[in-house]
Formats: sequence, C-alpha cells, structure tokens
Amino acid sequence: MSITDRLNEVRARIERAAIAASRDPASVKLVAVSKTKDASAIEEAYAAGQRAFGESYAQELAQKAQSLAHLADIEWHFIGHLQSNKAKLIAAHAHVMHTIDSPSLAKELARRVRNAGKPPLTALIEVNVGGEPQKHGATASELQEVIDAVRAEDALALRGLMTIPPEGDLAIAKNVFETLASLRNLHGGATLLPELSMGMTSDLEAAVAAGATMVRVGTAVFGDR
Ligand SMILES: *Cc1c(COP(=O)(O)O)cnc(C)c1O
Repeated sequence: MSITDRLNEVRARIERAAIAASRDPASVKLVAVSKTKDASAIEEAYAAGQRAFGESYAQELAQKAQSLAHLADIEWHFIGHLQSNKAKLIAAHAHVMHTIDSPSLAKELARRVRNAGKPPLTALIEVNVGGEPQKHGATASELQEVIDAVRAEDALALRGLMTIPPEGDLAIAKNVFETLASLRNLHGGATLLPELSMGMTSDLEAAVAAGATMVRVGTAVFGDR
C-alpha cells in the first residue's frame, strides 16, 4: 500500500473515532511520525496533504527540517526525550515541542528560542501518568511546578499535555488517556490547556474518545520501522 493510501486509512480511522465520540473530526490533528523514515517518504505524505510530522531525535529533526526547507508550510513536532544540550536544535527547527518535563528544560529551551530570535515555541508538557520509574515525563505531583515554569517563559507558549501509555494493553492505555484528560481539568481545563497529545497506531481510537486533539501515528502511515 502507498503512503497516500495509508494516510487516507488513518484519516478515516480518526474521522470514525471522532464521530463515535460526538466530536468534530477537524478537532483532531494527525501528526505523522516520520522518525527513521527518509525524506522521500515525508515528501510523499506532504504531497498527499499531510503537514505535521513528528520526530523523536533532535539531530534527525534538524537534518530533515533543513533538507525539506522547500516545503514551506511543513510543521515539525518534537516528540522524543530532549536532553538540554540538544535544546538549541529544537529551538531552531521545531514548531511544536511535546515533551517538556522539567523546569530546567523549560528554562533552557526558552533561552535557546530567545537567542535564535524565534517566535514563542508552542509547548506541551509530557506527563508520566502511571508514574513508571523508567519513563520520562513529569509525574502528576510534579506537573504544577512544570506548568508554572513554562508559563514563566515568554518564549514558550503553553498549549497542553502529552503522554505515552505503557505498550500492549489497550485497557491500560484508555485509563492513561482518561487520566491525562482529568489532569488537564485539574490544571485549568481546556481554556488554559487546549491540546491533548495522545494516541498512536494501536490506540488512537481510545485517545480520540478520551479527548485527544493531536494523535501521533507512525507505523500506520509509513509502515514498520
Ligand atoms: C514512535 C512514536 C509514536 C508513533 O508510534 P506508532 O506506534 O508507530 O504509531 C508516537 N509517539 C511517540 C512518542 C513515539 O516515539
């Protein structure tokens, strides 16, 4: 199947899930996760109308953003774990940062955005909903301090929350998505935090049902990695 056909299938999945949840399908943005895929795959998706692409490695995002700079309205989303020493690459090339998880990372990113003379970077906070020790993300109890740190920076535009559930169990994923939506409600609701980035190839329907506004889909769009 071509990338264009796969994209159309994913769009249809999002649309069905949104309608089933009495939501407007246009309220769910598809972020096509292109990590490890080459520029030609991204160009094919772009030609099929896809604009938002997700990358997990800062260097890879920077390289692709530079080599695909001719695609003027392409939108780069950073969805991986970011080490502070790579913040400069994200400040220079990303449009949306999904994975701020500490006050120190917020500060460093903001400094890099200012130094690059860029407009405020759209920012989401990654939440480790299950409090799994091996995972990145702010825990529920750390969330308020990370929110405060991001809000304190003019160079960051806080827009919402992001999470990655443990793999392999749809019931657990559903619970994680619903918990992220409750945490959003505890911290100011959709007015202050309009975006929920959650849902991937195997669980996007559950995420849309729980209120996802951005789903990050790799395999179903580009095939196996
Ligand atoms: C790779 C990745 C995805 C995409 O996963 P698929 O199962 O291929 O859809 C989504 N989110 C994050 C954070 C990822 O690292």
